[in-house]
Amino acid sequence: MEDFRHLFRLAADHAADFRRSLSDRPVGVSVDRAVLAEAFTGPLPAAGRPPEQVLADLVAAAEPGLVASAGPRYFGFVVGGASPAATAADIVAAGWDQLATNAVSSPAAVAAEAAAGGWLKELLGIPASASVGFVTGAQAANTVGLAAARHQVLAEAGWDVERRGLLGAPPIGVIAGEERHGTVDRSLRLLGLGTDLVHPVPAGPNGAIDLASLREALRAGPSGPRIVCLQAGNVNTGACDPLREACELVRRHGGWVHVDGAFGLWAAASPVTRHLVDGLELADSWACDGHKWLNLPYDSAFAFCARPDVHAAAMSYSAAYLVGSGGAPEGADLTAESSRRARGFAVWAGLRELGSGGVAALVERCCGLARRFAAGLTAAGFEVANEVVLNQVLVGFGDDARTDRVVAAVQADGTCWAGGTTWRGRRLMRISVSNATTTEADVDRSVAAITRLAG
Ligand SMILES: *Cc1c(COP(=O)(O)O)cnc(C)c1O
Repeated sequence: MEDFRHLFRLAADHAADFRRSLSDRPVGVSVDRAVLAEAFTGPLPAAGRPPEQVLADLVAAAEPGLVASAGPRYFGFVVGGASPAATAADIVAAGWDQLATNAVSSPAAVAAEAAAGGWLKELLGIPASASVGFVTGAQAANTVGLAAARHQVLAEAGWDVERRGLLGAPPIGVIAGEERHGTVDRSLRLLGLGTDLVHPVPAGPNGAIDLASLREALRAGPSGPRIVCLQAGNVNTGACDPLREACELVRRHGGWVHVDGAFGLWAAASPVTRHLVDGLELADSWACDGHKWLNLPYDSAFAFCARPDVHAAAMSYSAAYLVGSGGAPEGADLTAESSRRARGFAVWAGLRELGSGGVAALVERCCGLARRFAAGLTAAGFEVANEVVLNQVLVGFGDDARTDRVVAAVQADGTCWAGGTTWRGRRLMRISVSNATTTEADVDRSVAAITRLAG
């Protein structure tokens, strides 16, 4: 008992020390990967070691290779920093070591998921009757949503895909925006649908699906079982598809609408940005991340489905020895995992820490800081390539080679970190403001560093 207390305190101290260092340490890591690999390798010792020593060895080996991605000046990919209460809840959850498969294996884990799921639906404006699976990321949430879609469109064509598989099944048509996220394609591959099935729909100027082209695709494209993938939050530009009009079109022509809203769905949580995702409630399934804009610890995301029966039909997990199975779908019935960690505790804690007002403020603040970035870099003479509608900013520094050099210099400098991307055939710096601790001063300091390095 005392051993645990001492050990866990040491672990928490290490984590807290690292967090405290985030505002000052170089954001990127310039470690030699061979040196880092060396620190972790070596023969597995024949005899075990005391846990305190193992912890100290781990911290020493990992420290030089840790990225300050949870800190206020990390603008790479779409990355948030885990909030204090959510992180603390995750630390406790690790100590509790609960099996979140169902209410028999951990009643508390399932109850936390149910409560947090209700709050999430309220914040996002997803119908309260929808089901929620707590998954690892929007990748997994897209897979679950599209599995539900596959079930339903084939069921309507008289085909039971869970029993009969896809061999001999009626062909499914998939319509998706050409600027969809790459994970949608992987989900389709995993579901046996294949990427050749995708009928890509062109995007408008800022990367949202073009409605006239969608209408045309629905009219001329594949008839029969049909899945339409829409997007809230283009990973480059932040643009959201016009969900109301798009969903109404699909309703008229038939088909299941899945919305990949990994980060953009959070626009719904603020009255200032809600119009960007107006009509989202008309979709059939939604994917949304917790570990991006909501600032929850990895890994955490949500697969929502308007039809819990369809969700469970596609994903449910039952076996004779699973005492809890057979009732209302929960836990592992709504995801692709059997044994699962209890990520619902951190979700519950993170939402409670912010409150609905705090979530709205987080979204508004990040959008405001993204506009500040755009204004600062424009004033410095650089080109902002997208319309900054949400938290994403694309910046060009001249030709592709020059932009890549600026991105590399910024990453090496360590004041802040932003990645490069290719959008519409051009290399650009991509800045995503998704961290709850980022301030105006952080943005100004980053703009100054980027300007200096680009010069
Ligand atoms: C990040 C992202 C994903 C994938 O999410 P993971 O959490 O990495 O699994 C999918 N779609 C969009 C639009 C994203 O931004």
